[in-house]
Amino acid sequence: MLELGEIARSIFLTTSFSGIEVRERDIYCTMPNTPQTQRVIPASSDTLLHMLETLPSALFVVDGAATIVYANASAQTMLDATQEDILGKPLWRGAPQLVSTALYQAVQKTNQIRKPAEVEYVSPVTGTWLHVQLAPTDGGLMVQFHQGRAATGREASVSQDEHLSIEDLDGLVSRIGMLTPEGIVLEINEVPLAQARARREEVIGQPLAEAHWWSFSPASQEQLHAAIARANRGETVRFETVVHPREGMDRHLDVAITPRRDADHHIDYLVIAGIDITARKRAEQQLKESEQNWRVLAETLPQLVWVRRPDGLLEYVNQRWRDYTGLTLEQLQSDRWAHLQFFHPDDRESHRAHLQHALDTGTMHEHEQRLRKSQTGEYRWFLTRAIPLRDEGGQIVKWFGTCTDIDEQKRTEEALRESQERASVLMNSSFIGINIIEGEQIVDANETYLRMTGYTREDLHAGRMNWLHMTASEDLARTRQAHQELATQHVLTPYEKEYVRQDGSRLPVLVGAVPLQHHQSQAIAFVLDNSARKELEQRKDAFISMASHELKTPLTALKLQTALLHRQLARQGTLDQAPALSSMETQIKTITRLVEELLDVSKIQVGRLEYVRETVDLNALLQEIAETLQQTNPSHTLVVRGMVGTSLIGDRDRLGQVFTNLLSNAIKYSPDAEKVEIDLRASEDAATISVRDHGLGIPREQRDKIFERFYQASGPKQKAIPGLGMGLYIVAEIVKGHGGTITVDSTEGRGSTFTVTLPLMRDA
Ligand code: ADP
Repeated sequence: MLELGEIARSIFLTTSFSGIEVRERDIYCTMPNTPQTQRVIPASSDTLLHMLETLPSALFVVDGAATIVYANASAQTMLDATQEDILGKPLWRGAPQLVSTALYQAVQKTNQIRKPAEVEYVSPVTGTWLHVQLAPTDGGLMVQFHQGRAATGREASVSQDEHLSIEDLDGLVSRIGMLTPEGIVLEINEVPLAQARARREEVIGQPLAEAHWWSFSPASQEQLHAAIARANRGETVRFETVVHPREGMDRHLDVAITPRRDADHHIDYLVIAGIDITARKRAEQQLKESEQNWRVLAETLPQLVWVRRPDGLLEYVNQRWRDYTGLTLEQLQSDRWAHLQFFHPDDRESHRAHLQHALDTGTMHEHEQRLRKSQTGEYRWFLTRAIPLRDEGGQIVKWFGTCTDIDEQKRTEEALRESQERASVLMNSSFIGINIIEGEQIVDANETYLRMTGYTREDLHAGRMNWLHMTASEDLARTRQAHQELATQHVLTPYEKEYVRQDGSRLPVLVGAVPLQHHQSQAIAFVLDNSARKELEQRKDAFISMASHELKTPLTALKLQTALLHRQLARQGTLDQAPALSSMETQIKTITRLVEELLDVSKIQVGRLEYVRETVDLNALLQEIAETLQQTNPSHTLVVRGMVGTSLIGDRDRLGQVFTNLLSNAIKYSPDAEKVEIDLRASEDAATISVRDHGLGIPREQRDKIFERFYQASGPKQKAIPGLGMGLYIVAEIVKGHGGTITVDSTEGRGSTFTVTLPLMRDA
C-alpha cells in the first residue's frame, strides 16, 4: 500500500516543478528575477499533498499495475469525475480521455526502467495537445498532464513513429486500435465509433470484447477473446468475423491482431486492425446465390451446358450433358480433350482447333459438330457456343458453354438443299418448259420455256409475257377453262394447246399446272413441246386420209364389177350357182364400211364432216335399222320400245350411222346375251334414244376414253372381238354435230346403256 505523503515527497524529489524545489524535508522557492532560492516551509506530507492538490496540471499516481491511487483536483476537473470515480481503476479505464498508446507505452517503459520520461501526444478523446511527465515513485509512478503546450523536443525513449495518429490510417484499414495485452482499448479510430454511435470515452479503457458492437454476438466475442490470448503468445492472429455496430447493421471484418514487443521482447501492446470486407462478402454471397440460380437454370435448360476453367478443364456439366454423353464430370477432369471421345471422329480435329483457338484468344467460339448419344450410339448435330466470363480486370474467369441440338434443323436444311437441288435440276431441265404464273402474267420461267416461246429474260422481267396473249385464239376457251379448274380444284389436268410464239409462229404444247403451296396466287406450269407428236399425228391423219381415198377407188371399181357380174349371172339364171359372189359382196360391204369410217375419221380431223338438213322420222329410222340388223344378226333379239311420232331436223344417213353403230356394238359386245333394247322417249325439246345390252359392260376408268379416236377397251374378252375403235368416235362427233349429247352407263359383266339426246329443233 502506497503512503501518499511519501509519494508526494518522492514526486517533489524526483521531479522539478517550475520555481519549487524540495530539499530534504523543506520546500524552497526560486525567487523571480534572482537566481537564489529561498526556504519557504518545512515539507510535511500534508503540505506536499496540499501542494499537489493546488497544482494547475492534472496529476495521477498509479501503482505498478497502473491502478490509480491518487488523482489531484485538476485531474478530477479534467476528467469531470470525483476521486471515488477514479481511484482503484486502471489508468486506462479511469482516465480514458487521456489514454493513448504513447501514454501506455511510456507508463510501461517508465515502470520498467524507473527513470523519468516525457511524452507528448494529442488526446484522441479531447483533441487537445498533452505533454505528459512521468516519474517513478516508490512502488509506482507519477503521471502529470500539461494541456495545450506547444510541442517541443520529444523524449528519446518514445520513438517518433509511435506518435502517428491512428486516424491517419483511415482508408487503409477501416478499424484500427491499440489494446493492452489484456484486451483493453487504448486507442481506436473514428469509423467504428461513428458506426456504433459511441463516444470514444465509452470505449477507451474498456475491454474490446465487451464493446457492445463486438459483444453483440457471444460467438464473435469468444472469437476475439481467443484471438487476443493467442496474440499474447506472440502470434499474429487473423480471422474473419461479423460485428454489429448497431441495430440493423452488420459488418464483415477481416481482423488481424499483431503483438508489439518492447526492447526486451515482452509483449508491449496489441495492434488490432480490421478491414471491412462486407462488400466483398456480399458480392461473394451474391455470386454464390447467382451461381446457384445459374445452376438451377442450367439444369432446366434443354441444352447440354458446361463450364470450363480458363485452362480448359471442365468444371461443371449439367445432368442433360451427363445423360447424353454417358460420362461423368470426374471422368473428364484430368484431360481437357477427354470429351472428344463422344464427338464424331470426323469432327474431332476441327472442334479441337476451334476450342484451342477460343482458349488462346479469349474470343467467343461457335461450332457445329456431331455428338454421340450414349443410349443409342447415334450421332446428332449440335451447335456449340462458348462465351468467356471475365472479371473486372478483363481476366477470363470461366468459359460458359452450351450445346444445342440442331439435328432436326440440319436434316431439314439438308432436305431443303436436296429439294432445292432437285428443283433447280428440274427448272433447268432441257426439255420441260417451266414457268410460274400469277394472274395472267408469267413471273418466272426457265431457259427451256423461254427458248420454246422465243421470249427473252428481259421480256420476262419487263412483264411482257402474258399467257393469255401467248395462247392461240382457238385455244382461248380451253385455256380459260383450264385456269378455272386450277383456281377451283387446285389442279390443272394436262391439256394440249398451241402457243403463239414471240415471232408469231405456232408451237403445239402440252400444259399441266399446280398452285404453289406457299403462294396460293401463284402456280407452276410445266410445258412440253408437243410439236413432234403433233407432226406425227398429222402424218398419221394424212396417211389415213390418203389411204382411205386410195382404197376407195379400187373398192368402188370392185363393187361396180361385182354388181355387173351379179346382174349378168342373174340374167343367165345362175346366180345361186356362184355362192362365192355373195360372200365377195358381203366382204366388199365390210371393207367399204371400214374405208368409209376411215374417211369419216379423217374428215372429222380436218373439220370437214358435213351434214344435210332434212326432216328425220326417228321412229321410222330406228325401226328400219333394227330390222336390217335383226336380219343379219339372228343370234340377238332387238326390241324397239316407246315409239312416238317424233321427227327432227338432221342428217338422216349420219343419224342412221349413229344408231347402226350403237346397235352393232350392243350386239357385238354381248355375245352371251340375246336381248338388245332400244328406247325412244321425247320431251318438249329433245328426243332421247337409249340402247341397252346385257353384255360385257365397260370398266369405269375406260368409259370416257371409248369416245376417243382408235380407242379400244383392253379387257381380254373385248380384245377377242374385232374392231378398230372408230365407231364411237364418229358417233360422238355426229351427235355433237346435231347439238346433242351421248353418255354411257355400264356395269361390268352386266351390260351397258348408251343414251343419245338430240334437240328437236322443230322450227328449224
Ligand atoms: P370398236 O367397236 O370398233 O372397237 P368403237 O369405237 O365402236 O370401236 O368402240 C370403242 C370401244 O368401246 C370398243 O373397243 C369396246 O371395247 C367398247 N364398247 C363399245 N360399245 C360397247 C358395248 N355396247 N359394250 C361393251 N363395250 C363396248
